[in-house]
Amino acid sequence: MASTVAVEAARENPLVFLCSRCSRPLGDWLTWVSSQEDVNCILLRGVSSNVSVDKEPRLSKCKGEEGCLLETLCCAGCSLSLGSVYRCTPKNPDYKRDLFCLSVEAIESYTLGSAEKQAVLEDQELFSLESRVEIEKSIKQMEEVLKALQTKLLEVESKLPFAGCSS
Ligand SMILES: [Zn+2]
Repeated sequence: MASTVAVEAARENPLVFLCSRCSRPLGDWLTWVSSQEDVNCILLRGVSSNVSVDKEPRLSKCKGEEGCLLETLCCAGCSLSLGSVYRCTPKNPDYKRDLFCLSVEAIESYTLGSAEKQAVLEDQELFSLESRVEIEKSIKQMEEVLKALQTKLLEVESKLPFAGCSS
């Protein structure tokens, strides 16, 4: 259930997967198949050209994957080992066949639309909420001082001789 929610959230804010060492983009949400939380990897239908595939197949050494033939994936930019493609699976992990299996530890994700930095210089930054509250408070205080002065002025005016008879 929880993973369904995560999937829905990810659909609203698509992810881009990056190499955790050199930050090259490796793939994105559009080729997402599923995640394998038990083995800490995600399965993608396609990856970017930054992922290089070692065509020399090797046998999986993982438990429960005896007899699986893998092709190793690594980052074309920094050679970080990223995961593997399962080419030949005897039975159990058949769902992984011909999918790119990327290790969660080797990738970072970037959520589209998560940009927070604005191109506004520090001293031109918009008022923060606190400073706005402060400014509004001092404006109120100034208004009160002005009102008091106005009352005083009217008082003084009314005491002046010939007040109100200027015409
Ligand atoms: Zn890399």
